[in-house]
Amino acid sequence: MAKEKKVESIEDLPGVGPAIAEKLRDAGFTDLITLAVTPPADIAVAAEIGEAQAKKIVEAARKFADVGNFVTGDVVLERRQHISKLTTGSQALDNLLGGGLETQAITELFGPFGSGKTQIIHQLLVNVTMPEERKGLNGEAILIDTENTFRPERIEQMSLALNLDPKEVLKKIHVARAYNSSHQMLLVEKAFETAKQNPIRLIAVDSLTAHFRVEYTGRGALAERQQMLNRHMHDLLRFADIYNAVVAVTNQVSARPDVFFGDPNQPIGGNIVGHTATFRISLRRSKGDKRIARLIDSPSLPEGEVVIVINSEGVRDG
Ligand code: ADP
Ligand code: MG
Repeated sequence: MAKEKKVESIEDLPGVGPAIAEKLRDAGFTDLITLAVTPPADIAVAAEIGEAQAKKIVEAARKFADVGNFVTGDVVLERRQHISKLTTGSQALDNLLGGGLETQAITELFGPFGSGKTQIIHQLLVNVTMPEERKGLNGEAILIDTENTFRPERIEQMSLALNLDPKEVLKKIHVARAYNSSHQMLLVEKAFETAKQNPIRLIAVDSLTAHFRVEYTGRGALAERQQMLNRHMHDLLRFADIYNAVVAVTNQVSARPDVFFGDPNQPIGGNIVGHTATFRISLRRSKGDKRIARLIDSPSLPEGEVVIVINSEGVRDG
């Protein structure tokens, strides 16, 4: 009997010809695993194919995709031994986090407008390029910018303050604007491709929640929004694991009860973001350029808060 054909790329799947493959790729479904874990209805809409056909494709992808396997504790331990830490620029904040932002985890920065979330993201984009002796990761960064707040001039300013060549630093920061939440999610898929060619050690999403907040309004949309955010967070976590990278996301506290149902002082996304993020830092303004950073419900570190400053040089001890 003839040996079964090896299925490695999406074109090899039964029922996927070149035309369908192209549609799938255009919609961001570039590999078997992504097809295997996406609901057929979503694929049907994104790739403009019938739902029955999408269902068949998903079934085939599930059969052939390398979905991974259970691993024993010693393997998890081995993997965790590769965890590195990225400095925030403030020794006090690094100490609060047990040495800096961890790779293989998601760190969420949340706080009101002007609390310093975007500034800290800029600082991390610069710091990740530094060598390990300077508590960087000797790597490059991806920024998914949803609010058009990325400022290369600010990167230059922060780089000079650290005696880094601003041009070299800017070349290591890969930025994309995300125009809506679907685009934002597709950009994470794109990030996997970028990371194949560049040593990406940080992926930042600023803001994680802004698009979701405006697109999914009203009580009826809440469940759907949480579901999409959940998927987005897990895509980011997968990136963190595969590339041993830091994931940093921002989340603005909404004080407007008309756009947030529940406690107005709670960040949007509530449980979903909170439970998937490994480290959560709340930020609030203090006197002048001072900010108070507080570590919230970490699984392994004590709660506490520190004072940092955000000045022309960037993020420093308060
Ligand atoms: P968020 O993203 O939380 O809304 P930002 O990170 O944009 O807030 O913080 C904005 C604040 O950062 C400004 O109000 C200012 O205090 C500080 N800031 C921004 N740029 C500079 C700079 N070049 N020099 C000094 N402080 C700055
Ligand atoms: Mg901001």
